[in-house]
Amino acid sequence: MLEDKNKQKTSLAELGEFGLIEHLTQYFKIHHETTTKAIGDDCAVISQNEKTLITTDFLVEGVHFDLSYMPLKHLGYKAVMVNISDVYAMNASAEQITVSIAVSNRFPLEALEELYAGIQLACDTYKIDLIGGDTTSSTKGMIISVTAIGSAKEEEIAYRNGAKPTDLIVLTGDIGGAYLGLQVLEREKEVFKVNPQNQPDLQEYSYIIERQLKPEARKDIPKLLKELEVQPTSMIDVSDGLSSELIHICTQSKVGCNIYEEKLPLDPQVISTCEEFDLDATTVALSGGEDYELLFTIPIKDFDKIKGNPNLTVIGHITEENEGVNLITRGNQSIKLRAQGWNSFNQEN
Ligand code: ADP
Ligand code: MG
Repeated sequence: MLEDKNKQKTSLAELGEFGLIEHLTQYFKIHHETTTKAIGDDCAVISQNEKTLITTDFLVEGVHFDLSYMPLKHLGYKAVMVNISDVYAMNASAEQITVSIAVSNRFPLEALEELYAGIQLACDTYKIDLIGGDTTSSTKGMIISVTAIGSAKEEEIAYRNGAKPTDLIVLTGDIGGAYLGLQVLEREKEVFKVNPQNQPDLQEYSYIIERQLKPEARKDIPKLLKELEVQPTSMIDVSDGLSSELIHICTQSKVGCNIYEEKLPLDPQVISTCEEFDLDATTVALSGGEDYELLFTIPIKDFDKIKGNPNLTVIGHITEENEGVNLITRGNQSIKLRAQGWNSFNQEN
């Protein structure tokens, strides 16, 4: 949106593929003893003392991100977050990533430097080793694929299928912000198209815009749960929206659940922005994705261990499968939840 037109532009062809990779990755540090060989050979070499967890995600320009309001540095950071979030969502620790990119000749070297600055910031902040990847050209746009590798003791891994009736449903942080941040950014993009001189004042939306542009994965939660001596019975990260994630847990665990509208953790900026956009905050909390909070279940006997923790909110409990997946409203009505989250094959989304 606020692109600096005077930035220096170096064509990628000037460096060649290997020069490019070396240039982009020269300042990355290795944090883990388990990384024996990182970038530079035909394969990376790692060792693992525990179980190994692996996850991959694509980010495609025009589908998952829009560079008119997503700065490339933020995109690099977010690409790492969405992947390591999946590792934390297994109650595991993330250690390595590979990053593969396809870029069209529309992108100069300086654009990739920005992207990698974001990847590096994420790696340094979260102690992740960049151990490899691939680089190629695309005819149009940018595609990024990140693979994250993590580890955990077998008995600590939390799958989606372990929730049991009477378990409590716990959510970290607050939700709905990332979706609303996107609504604000989309609105400003339209204003900018009409009047490019307009410099928007987005101060009052700072939290929700940050939730969209610079999400943070919940590395702290697997650690916190270990300290509290709580083993979650199931766990998932909130990437597609709370309803959709609850349905995943309930379907895979063959259970139902009740969650309570009044318990949903919402930031004040989420509530005020919903009012401004004439959106229902509960709908936004249920359907808005990309918050990267963690949703998990714990045995009810562990309630005292998590009670009062500012990071954790109990939003409901697991029931028998035949009771379905329900929201209990403030008016004490029970409403069946549907997955309205993001579906990349659904054109209407
Ligand atoms: P190969 O031809 O064997 O695939 P490459 O020239 O593609 O080798 O890669 C050389 C080294 O650089 C490898 O260690 C590879 O993992 C790493 N690498 C390639 N592209 C990237 C990238 N975009 N980000 C990080 N590392 C990369
Ligand atoms: Mg290669």
